[in-house]
Amino acid sequence: MGFSAFDFDPKIAAGIRALGYCVPTPIQRQAMAPILQGRDVMGLAQTGTGKTAAFALPILQRLLSGPRGVTRALILAPTRELADQIQASFRSLGRQTGLRSLAVYGGVGAGAQVGGFRSGDEIVVACPGRLLDHLRQGAFKPSGLEVLVIDEADRMFDMGFLPDIRRILKHLPAHRQTLLFSATMPDDIR
Ligand code: AMP
Repeated sequence: MGFSAFDFDPKIAAGIRALGYCVPTPIQRQAMAPILQGRDVMGLAQTGTGKTAAFALPILQRLLSGPRGVTRALILAPTRELADQIQASFRSLGRQTGLRSLAVYGGVGAGAQVGGFRSGDEIVVACPGRLLDHLRQGAFKPSGLEVLVIDEADRMFDMGFLPDIRRILKHLPAHRQTLLFSATMPDDIR
């Protein structure tokens, strides 16, 4: 099965080609169809399996239609390195879509992040602590959010992010698509 089976928009197919992806990885084969259908998906996947594109491609496809200039997809990640990697994937896969992404994490100035929220970047990739600061200060306005991804959920749990994630969830629209990826699936994550 190739990527053509998923009927991605030509702008997204161009991104797939530009990165040299020929066939979907197993997690991509399994997860992309239900994500494209708008269903909630829980995926068991380690880093290195292609899980980023497994959620990024269907999210880009979804965001191609609908409003611009509001945050519509939020990806929560445990570390700034991972947040940067995920944002880089969205940027390269979505290069021709005109959709914009913003990486949000602590340890750096908040000014550029506030600017990204203000300009309405559609995709936000964030570490929980700093995102919560922006939420409390009113820079991040989640009312237009359609998709939430919780990536590396087990690591976020180990790093003590669960309370912050719960606080963030309270502010997000209840009617949304939720995706969760984790290398392991202990009961507390489930
Ligand atoms: P990830 O598990 O998302 O961190 O991806 C691991 C690496 O695999 C990244 O360098 C991706 O660019 C690459 N990758 C993702 N999907 C594919 C694919 N279908 N074919 C070839 N490489 C891929």
